[in-house]
Amino acid sequence: MGVLDTEVQFIKGVGEQRAKAFAKLGVETLRDLVMAFPRAYDDRTAVKTIAELQFGEMCCVSATVAAPARLSRVRKGLDITKCPVVDETARMTVTFFNQSYVGKNLIPGESYIFYGRVGGRIGAPEMQNPVMEREALPPAFTRRIVPVYRMTAGLSQRVFANAVRQGLEKCGEELPEQLPESVRKRYQLAQTRFSYENIHFPRDAESLELARRRLIFEEFFVLSCTLAFMRSRQREKSGKRVRVPDMAPFYKALPYALTGAQQRAVDDILRDLAGERPMSRLVQGDVGSGKTAVAAAAAYAVVQDGRQAAFMAPTEILAEQHYHTLTELLTPLGVRVGLLTGGLTAKRKREEQGRLKSGETQLVIGTHALLSESVEFADLGLIIADEQHRFGVQQRAALSDKGDAPHVLVMSATPIPRTLALIVYGDLDVSVINELPPGRRTVETYLVGEDKRQRLYAFVRKHVAQGRQVFMVCPAVEESEENPDGLKSVKEYAKELSEKVFPDLRVALVHGKLKPKEKNEVMASFAAGDIDILVATTVIEVGVDVPNATLMVVENADRFGLSQLHQLRGRVGRGPYQSTCVLIRAGGGEAATERLRAFCRTNDGFKIAEEDLAIRGPGDFFGSRQSGLPDMNIASFATDLDMLRSAQAAAKELLEDDPGLAKPENAPLRESVSRMLEKNRGTLN
Ligand code: ADP
Ligand code: MG
Repeated sequence: MGVLDTEVQFIKGVGEQRAKAFAKLGVETLRDLVMAFPRAYDDRTAVKTIAELQFGEMCCVSATVAAPARLSRVRKGLDITKCPVVDETARMTVTFFNQSYVGKNLIPGESYIFYGRVGGRIGAPEMQNPVMEREALPPAFTRRIVPVYRMTAGLSQRVFANAVRQGLEKCGEELPEQLPESVRKRYQLAQTRFSYENIHFPRDAESLELARRRLIFEEFFVLSCTLAFMRSRQREKSGKRVRVPDMAPFYKALPYALTGAQQRAVDDILRDLAGERPMSRLVQGDVGSGKTAVAAAAAYAVVQDGRQAAFMAPTEILAEQHYHTLTELLTPLGVRVGLLTGGLTAKRKREEQGRLKSGETQLVIGTHALLSESVEFADLGLIIADEQHRFGVQQRAALSDKGDAPHVLVMSATPIPRTLALIVYGDLDVSVINELPPGRRTVETYLVGEDKRQRLYAFVRKHVAQGRQVFMVCPAVEESEENPDGLKSVKEYAKELSEKVFPDLRVALVHGKLKPKEKNEVMASFAAGDIDILVATTVIEVGVDVPNATLMVVENADRFGLSQLHQLRGRVGRGPYQSTCVLIRAGGGEAATERLRAFCRTNDGFKIAEEDLAIRGPGDFFGSRQSGLPDMNIASFATDLDMLRSAQAAAKELLEDDPGLAKPENAPLRESVSRMLEKNRGTLN
């Protein structure tokens, strides 16, 4: 326990009551306090003479009290203190409401700095409730850049700032310098003490920038060291080698030959499985590139060696679909396949759990239900996570814990920048499937306005008349709790289509609020060809595979991100037929339209992801909470990527030199790493 662990209540000016308020902001110790960086700053550096004041501006004035303040009681609950002040140029009135005590602080003949908004009339300027300070005292709340902290009832900016000031003083020399001197020099980073002082109480804009740079770097550096440290421990774990079986029966059972890219991915995986360390591999391939078959190959190999595999999908629909595909493919090869989703009856869940525990089920497909504590495996050897970006890293870790250092395979259609991939996925090896199965034709994509609606309906009929099937997608407003009307609008849309527009066709609706069983029934009948038009929300966005579906219509296309549209478009063009995607634009400005036009021109998921990233930034790109990115104090994954790259490089170098962070000079860093591990237990890779 160092000084930094002191509870805030023992800091001068805080006490028990205020400590409670601080606790609401997550500030419990001195360390928390000095790490509670301002959320903004108020620039109060401008000091003007009274004659220079412009109506409405905020600035400081240095002036002398010209006469005693006058207190007048206007009515009950309202009193006003007025005081004339002067400088060499002119005179001004300072006015305070309900602050009767200020009067005695305004000593005639004394000079003060007042900071506030300039009001009053021409020739008679006035400041109401200004911040004031004796000119003779060092600047604290005037004449400088002032921090603005996150607030809660029971605290004020002044109390907060004073506590931080006391806190910084109390820290003395305890603020650890965790950046090695060489790193600090190379990246030209400010010193610790300077940085903490200036992030709270910047001497000037430049010092603030220097402080920010250093603290951002430091945070990324500690994160990078933590990840690297964890990885090196991971490496020490030895997984069980898989004796890779003869894969010929598997290849023979596949209804097609693997593409070259699929085969390469499978070969990578088999090599990993046979190795000493547990596999940690990402298979990245555009929608429709055939990732499922690659996963099936991995599962087949592990199961043939007598161990179990778990395949985790992000939605029930997808789990159900994979279950069907894999059952069809692998059961004839003697693999016992099971399904475990939240939608099953309690009885069926229990039965499946029993089969997993006994080892009877060799490959289980499931959703988050697989993570439940009551799920145990006899010998879990492989974890496959499909469409990984939808899972929190935490969840994948929870699954890993159910086995003894199982091999991990994650599959994603979303190309993400390497820098972020390192953090979200850890140090994964990557196989890229950069080739689509043969005979695929690109999906023709059109952008149309409302005026083309009748022609679109005729187009839908044409597809159905040819025996094909159609998706019609509405934005996913329905998923949000704040928008209960969203679901209504989807239902109305479906009703309109089935009763008025296509009364003679088979129209069905699927959305996220349906019971899993109902959802599965609808999807199964669509897959069986018993439904012509499936009206859907984005629940069908990922993975759904119905090769007979050839037309995707997206309403209000401007409300979707491009990557999301690409996923939706990927639901068609999966069979031998020419497929089409029609985007209906409801509103959106010129920029949105241009974005959609660009989307129509390319089928390349990688380009689209890059475009999306450029437009929306990674925060949006990953969605918010489920992103797998840890919470940061000052650094931002959206805007500080360059800094992240530098920090990663620096961390790598340091850990190569001192893998266990055992050198004495790395002790403070090691402590921070432990703290970060503690804080993010289970969420980091
Ligand atoms: P994704 O990579 O989007 O998960 P899927 O695994 O769902 O893609 O495969 C898309 C479709 O392509 C499926 O209908 C699958 O049967 C088919 N497919 C996969 N690999 C091949 C191949 N090598 N040749 C022909 N069709 C394939
Ligand atoms: Mg898929």
